[in-house]
Amino acid sequence: MEQVKIGKFIAEQRKAVNLTQAQLAERLAVTDRAVSKWETGKAMPDSSIMLPLCEILNITVNDLLSGEVVTMENYNKELENRLLEMVKEKEKADKRLLKLEIVLGIVAVLPVIAAIIIASTVPMEEWKGAMLVLFGLIPLLIATPFALKIEQKAGYYECQNCGSRYVPQYSRVFFAMHMGRTRYMRCPACHQITWQKKVLTKEK
Ligand SMILES: [Zn+2]
Repeated sequence: MEQVKIGKFIAEQRKAVNLTQAQLAERLAVTDRAVSKWETGKAMPDSSIMLPLCEILNITVNDLLSGEVVTMENYNKELENRLLEMVKEKEKADKRLLKLEIVLGIVAVLPVIAAIIIASTVPMEEWKGAMLVLFGLIPLLIATPFALKIEQKAGYYECQNCGSRYVPQYSRVFFAMHMGRTRYMRCPACHQITWQKKVLTKEK
């Protein structure tokens, strides 16, 4: 499809500079048949031919490969669309990560709860009960740094004082008091210590 569009574009631009297929072929030291093949979309010019071809047709290689003259406006729009796409992808990935954090938290907390229930209901010596709870804590201790890493990396924190959104240092997240994902931290922008809310997007 793209090749046909490029072919039509080559033909258009050739006519715009008043050249016949034969004349263009001669200037590029290729056969008429080769030019005809490009213009009907049956073949693409060799990479070695592209630069001299574009020079003769007064277009850029970017134009040639797009099959149209790429204006600055088009170019910027394309770039913006691509950036937007990337931001959306990151948001989706972050959402998945935060879900994973919840699952990780639940899985890690269950053994402690189970250990506490067993230790308090099944008759056993006190030190055994304490050991049981201690063992129950191990998954939680292992999972916590991972969960915090996810929380630090996924999305942003929003300062409730100045409204700036940022990714904090891991140590800040690690040592901060928290209620769910809302953490009591110093904002790097206004330096106030307030409750910083988790948000998914950088812009409001
Ligand atoms: Zn702030």
